[in-house]
Amino acid sequence: MKLKNYIGGEFCAGEEVGVLEVPNPATGEQLAELPLSAASEAEKAVAAALSVAADWAVVPVVERARVMFRYRDLLERYKEDLAVLVTTENGKNLEDARGEVRRGIEVVEFACGMPTLMMGQTVPDVSRGIDSEVYRYPLGVVAGITPFNFPLMVPLWLYPIAIACGNTFILKPSERTPLSAVRQAELLAEAGLPAGVFNMVHGGKEVVDALLAHPDIQAISFVGSAPVAEYVYRTAAAHGKRVQALAGAKNHHIILRDAPLDRTIEILVASAYGNAGERCLAGSVAVVEEAIADELVSRLAAAARVLPMGSGLEPGKELGPVIRPEHRDRIVRFIEQGVAEGAVLVCDGRQAPLVQSPGFFLGATLFDHVRPEMTIAREEIFGPVLSVIRVQDLDEAIAIANLSRYGNAAVLYTQSGAAARKFRERIQAGMIGVNVGVPAPMAFYPFSGWKGSFYGDLHATGRDGVEFYTRKKVVTTRWFDS
Ligand code: NAD
Repeated sequence: MKLKNYIGGEFCAGEEVGVLEVPNPATGEQLAELPLSAASEAEKAVAAALSVAADWAVVPVVERARVMFRYRDLLERYKEDLAVLVTTENGKNLEDARGEVRRGIEVVEFACGMPTLMMGQTVPDVSRGIDSEVYRYPLGVVAGITPFNFPLMVPLWLYPIAIACGNTFILKPSERTPLSAVRQAELLAEAGLPAGVFNMVHGGKEVVDALLAHPDIQAISFVGSAPVAEYVYRTAAAHGKRVQALAGAKNHHIILRDAPLDRTIEILVASAYGNAGERCLAGSVAVVEEAIADELVSRLAAAARVLPMGSGLEPGKELGPVIRPEHRDRIVRFIEQGVAEGAVLVCDGRQAPLVQSPGFFLGATLFDHVRPEMTIAREEIFGPVLSVIRVQDLDEAIAIANLSRYGNAAVLYTQSGAAARKFRERIQAGMIGVNVGVPAPMAFYPFSGWKGSFYGDLHATGRDGVEFYTRKKVVTTRWFDS
């Protein structure tokens, strides 16, 4: 099956610069062929989106919201099929895929409230007999460029809000996980979204570059790795666009001596190794008080060694494959570097039996006695690798976490309110958890990475999303009595 772009309400073959295979990461079997579209396909999509932008912008907001209500019902109806699709193309287990679908549906539910969310502000009598009002308007044509790790949810962070605000949208999904995006296009059409309001172009850099430079695109939302986020931010901003670019991460989990170890290990293992570590909120560095470090490391290692590995479609499997063999090779190079730089390799995922299978598996890997300056403590690995740094106390732990150039998430494990408060006030990260391993904001909050984890001003989802996809007019009015 060769995938097609979705432009102006139709799936159509287009010009391409190459073709990519899309394998199932759990088996290596080919699922589809993906066209690496030429820049001309992006131009066609922009033309289609532009041709209906003015009409869609004046469809009453309650009608735009009704499309989202219908879309939400379809996502609910097909939620299990969608979860299976996510597992098949991405590798995460079905339970995580179901969670992904649920979190995505919640953004659509949020967008259903657009009549209220788009309200402006008014102040009567800003001067004698003069009133002042703010109206909110869509921007026009906007585009989203998304990563492989949440192929359903991350697009859903973006276009339901953009479209309900009255914009038309072009999605450039990940070339590694395009199937969930295709299904979203089909279901949007079934929900009655007019042709041209949502468009999708498959491909890589050619398509992205064409979107970043196109004069008819008003705003770019990007979610992906840090170097590409920085490039997208700079390039789109240089072309005068509004940009939000959500980037990579290196999340520190601080474990204090009063943390209940059973629960802590359960939460930490799920955060570090769930989704094979391919979450931007994954725990990547465990910063542990020395007093409990020996016990924590030995129990973490015991849990990591018996983590059930296998296809995410098989019940009970907790560690699925990583996305591609080349990505596994990259993770293995990090493991080699950790060893070379002197960290103690406690669990070596390279030895897991499934590594020899046709799927792209890598076992849970644990390093102890990692130092903050080591590569494995600084770089985003995006695989099932957890590094333990030992510290004397919370102050030292916070200082080490704050050295990171990233600031997506941070987590504290404790029973102490005072420690939690100090952590909340001092940690330099935008999404923080206390005894919560994956502190993902709900749809009505912003996905608010800090530092090198985000480029821009307004984050995705929540009110930030509405702000990002709208612009304001301030109207000053005077009426004469006679
Ligand atoms: P990626 O940066 O490789 O790809 C993301 C998108 O950018 C894809 O659509 C891809 O086609 C495009 N792209 C890739 N290289 C490009 C280039 N040179 N020029 C233009 N476009 C290019 O990211 P990925 O590997 O798909 O996803 C994993 C990354 O995403 C991780 O770093 C993860 O932390 C990050 N992520 C961040 C968040 C967040 O909210 N901060 C959420 C999910 C994923």
